Amino acid sequence: MAQVNPVGFDDELFREIILDHYRHPRRHGLVDPADVTTHGHNPLCGDEVDLSLRVQGGQVEEVGFEGQGCSISMAAASMMSEQIQGKSLVATKDLIGRFRAMLIEGEDPSTVGDIGDLEALAGVHRYAARIKCAMLPWTTLEAGLTKLEESDDGSDV
Ligand code: ZN
Repeated sequence: MAQVNPVGFDDELFREIILDHYRHPRRHGLVDPADVTTHGHNPLCGDEVDLSLRVQGGQVEEVGFEGQGCSISMAAASMMSEQIQGKSLVATKDLIGRFRAMLIEGEDPSTVGDIGDLEALAGVHRYAARIKCAMLPWTTLEAGLTKLEESDDGSDV
C-alpha cells in the first residue's frame, strides 16, 4: 500500500500519529445509552461524524464516535474523544478553546497546554482547506453540549 500523506506534513512523527488514529480510531462506536448524540457534516470534503456522549455529574462519563471521511477528520475525532473521555464539561469546553486557538489562530502548541496527540494537528493550520476537516468533531461536540444544556432545563446533572 502506498504511503498516504494526509496534508503534506514534513513532520514524520506527526504524520505517523495522525495515520495511527485514522487506522486505529480510539473510542470508536456509539455510546449506549447516550445522553446526547449529534451528527456533523463537512460538505467541503464529505466528512461525516456521529458523536455520542453520556454525561454524569458534570463529567463526560463515556464518549464514542462513528463516521467516515478523510484521515484528518477521523484522526481528529479519535484524538478528541480520547482526550475528553472522563473530563469535566468545564475542562472539555476549555480544551475546545485551546484546540481552536492552535488550529485556527495558529497558536504554538507549546503555549496552549497539554492537548495530547492533538498536537499532531497543529500543522493543519497551514492548510486552509483542511481546517474544517480537523474542526468537524469539535463543532459536532459543541452542538452536543448545547443540546445537552438545552435539554437540561437548568437542573444540575
Ligand atoms: Zn476532510
